[in-house]
Formats: sequence, C-alpha cells, structure tokens
Amino acid sequence: MGEKIILVWFRNDLRIHDNEILLEAIKKADKVLPVYCFDPYYFTKNQFNNPKTGILRAQFLIESVRVLRKNLKEKGADLIVKIGDPTVLLPQLADEYQVCEVYHHREVAHEETQISEKAEAALWKLKLNLKHFIGHTLYHKEDLPFPIKDIPDSFVTFKKKIERESTVRPCLPTPDHIKTPVIKNAGEIPDLNDLGFDLTVNKPDGYLSVFKGGEDSALLQLESYLTESKQTISKTVRNGSKVSISSKLSPWIALGCISLRHVYWEVMNSNPEQLSPAQQQLILDLLWRDYFRFMFKKHGQQFIATTDIADLKAENINEDLAFENWKIGATGLGYIDAIMSELNTTGFITNSNRQIVANYLINTLKVDWKKGATYFEEKLIDYSPASNWGNWAFIAGVNNAGASKYQIASAPTKSAENKSSVVSG
Ligand SMILES: Cc1cc2nc3c(=O)[nH]c(=O)nc-3n(C[C@H](O)[C@H](O)[C@H](O)COP(=O)(O)OP(=O)(O)OC[C@H]3O[C@@H](n4cnc5c(N)ncnc54)[C@H](O)[C@@H]3O)c2cc1C
Repeated sequence: MGEKIILVWFRNDLRIHDNEILLEAIKKADKVLPVYCFDPYYFTKNQFNNPKTGILRAQFLIESVRVLRKNLKEKGADLIVKIGDPTVLLPQLADEYQVCEVYHHREVAHEETQISEKAEAALWKLKLNLKHFIGHTLYHKEDLPFPIKDIPDSFVTFKKKIERESTVRPCLPTPDHIKTPVIKNAGEIPDLNDLGFDLTVNKPDGYLSVFKGGEDSALLQLESYLTESKQTISKTVRNGSKVSISSKLSPWIALGCISLRHVYWEVMNSNPEQLSPAQQQLILDLLWRDYFRFMFKKHGQQFIATTDIADLKAENINEDLAFENWKIGATGLGYIDAIMSELNTTGFITNSNRQIVANYLINTLKVDWKKGATYFEEKLIDYSPASNWGNWAFIAGVNNAGASKYQIASAPTKSAENKSSVVSG
C-alpha cells in the first residue's frame, strides 16, 4: 500500500503554532503536503472598480507566506506556492502527489465559502474529501452554549452567555517535525509585480508600512504588547488613571499568523491575578471579532442587508465626487482628511478613527456605506470580511439580524457598555 499523503491548504491560517489542520494531518498521514495559492481573484477589482487588495496588504501577505515557508522548512517540510485559482490547482496537486485527503479551515464570509464549495466539488470529482476544520474563532463553535441558529443577535447577550457558559480551549502544540513527499518544484513566492501591481504607478516606497507580515513578527508584537500592557498596570496603580493601549495585532490575526487562543492564553497567563484594563479590553475585543464571525455564520449574507442605492443617490446627487474626496482625504475637514491620509499611507487606523470616517461618509456625505466598506477592504492591512462588513453594517444601521434589537443592544458608537468595547484603539 502506498503512503498516505494529506494536502494542507493554507488560507488565513499562515502559522505553524496552534494550527489544527497541520497537526491533524501530521497525525493522520505518513506525509503532509503544505500548499498556499495566491488566488488572482483577490487581485481583481470590486463592483465599485477599486482593487480588492491594496498594495500594502498584498505586501503583508507576501511576507507572511514567506515566513510560513521558512518556518515549515525549519521543521523539515516546505510550502508549495502557486499563483492561480485554488479550485483548479488543488485537484491538480492532489493528483500529482497522490493525495488521499485535503484539509482546510472553514471560512464564514460569502466569497471565501464559495471558493471552498467550488474546491470541494472539484476534489470530489477525484473522489477526494475536503475536510473542514474550525479554527478562526476564539471560542470553538462546538463549545458555544447555543446552536448557531440560536446565537443571540445582541452582543451583550452573546457576551454574557459565552463568558458564563463557555471556555476557551487550550492551544495545540507546535509540531516538532513535518514529513513531506519529495517536492520537485515548490514554486517561487511572487512579488508585487507578479500579483499585477504596477510599481511605477503604486510607488510602494512612498508608503510607510509599520507592519511586517508573518508569524515571527506576530509573536514579537504580542510580546511587546504584553510588556506594554503590564507596564500599564503599574502606571494605572501609580497614577490611578486608566491608560488605554491597543494591541495592533489585527493584521496578523486577519491572516492567521497568530492564533486567537494563543493571544488569549498569553494574556491570561501573563497576569493570572488581575488583568490590566488594557488586557481586559483586548479580551473583550477578541469577543467582538467572534461575534461578527458567528453572525455571518448564522445569517450568511443576510446579516448585512443592503440599502437601496437609488434612495441614497436621491439624497446625494454628488455621491461620486463626495466619495472620491473622502477617499483621498480632500473633504476639507481637517480631522477626516488626516485619518484618511493615515489609512492611505499606512493601511491601519484605530478603531475609533474607523468609526469617525465611516460615520462621516454615511451620515454626512450620504454615500452608500458599501462603497466605504469596499474602500476599507482595499486599504486595510487587517482586512477581514466579517469584521469589516459587520462593523460597517453596524454603523450604517443595516443588518437583517433584527436591526433595531441589534442597534439598541450593542451599537458600538451608542451604548455605554459598548463604548468601552468597540471604541478602543
Ligand atoms: C468601519 C470599521 C471597519 C473595520 N474593519 C476591520 C477589518 O477589516 N479587520 C479587523 O480586524 N477589524 C476591523 N475593524 C475592527 C477594529 O477597528 C480593528 O480590529 C482594531 O482597530 C484593530 O486594532 P488592534 O489590533 O489594536 O485591536 P485591539 O483593540 O487590540 O483588539 C484585539 C483584536 O480584537 C479584534 N477586534 C477589536 N475590535 C474589533 C471590532 N470592533 N470588530 C471585530 N474585531 C475586533 C481584532 O482582531 C483586534 O486585533 C473595523 C472597525 C470598523 C469601525
């Protein structure tokens, strides 16, 4: 009988620590075939003719894949890297390497789940199973105190029940050694040119990216956050005043360069006696992230019911101009323009600044909120579908999860409880 080989399809889980698909494949197979596909779909334009992925996020992704390959190599393995549609590439690789199963982490947002479904169908034609794992949330779906269909739409209720009735699972160990089949051509990691960026137009040198992609930088960022947030404790004790810091971990979390459980347990264990206010805030923020993902799981696309573009157009006949000015930071309002300029040059703005510019676009400029959401999709280094679309829908006051209940119980900008949870950063 031949060797049992399992293909591990990396997507938004670019790490070797606390990675269930990798660990399970090692356990179940003789050899593991790690694969990452740069899917050209994510480098096309969206419905408003903006790039789906901006240059800073593309750079961050390239760096993250490079570090993943390095870390896999340190364990004796490699990473096959391809540019192309995974639904075509995966069956080809599965055939070439005589793979018996494919593992991946399940996504929740529409585009990502569609890709999974197509991949599953294509693999099935070869009689191969695509096995789905759950690994993008802090709380495991199976440990929730309610079935997905009964998840409370109000964040407050969701939080109370989870904190009372669920626990976060411990982290899984990092593998010591990974065996792969002989890989003849693992493929080059693409550069920005390969992904379709015209560097003469995009001028990456003019950008100031403070984030370096990959698992190694993610772990370092967590370490420095833990030191800083501990110091915050002593500052708090000394001055008696609250010091608010945020972790700036979101870009790494979005690509799965760091696991949420790892962040959670490192924070909890760093201060078993008493978490600092900043650390309590971080734990709450991680819960917000889970909330949006579970809402998408429960309601699907219906979670972000759309507003009628025709109505919005009637409210603002200069919508296109207003949107263009907002994007480039030329609204004439100094603080809005400064935030947008920071977004454009660094790919990151704080949560409260995201709320300010989103509110301004929706409520003052009367521009369709989806345009703003797609612009954030392009520009944010930490773009994550459920977090981005969920937060935008929240601010626009549109969702099909019982809109009024949702707004009253948990609107980040309005309720006191959530002022502390969402207006952080
Ligand atoms: C309009 C708008 C769009 C947003 N788009 C995104 C996005 O595409 N990707 C993204 O990760 N976050 C998004 N957020 C949420 C939030 O602004 C960022 O997660 C946060 O600013 C990241 O900074 P941090 O890592 O220092 O967060 P911390 O305060 O240190 O929080 C820790 C982690 O919790 C998660 N988190 C924190 N706040 C939220 C929140 N309100 N919703 C969901 N998750 C949260 C993030 O993963 C974050 O890294 C958006 C918020 C708004 C208002």
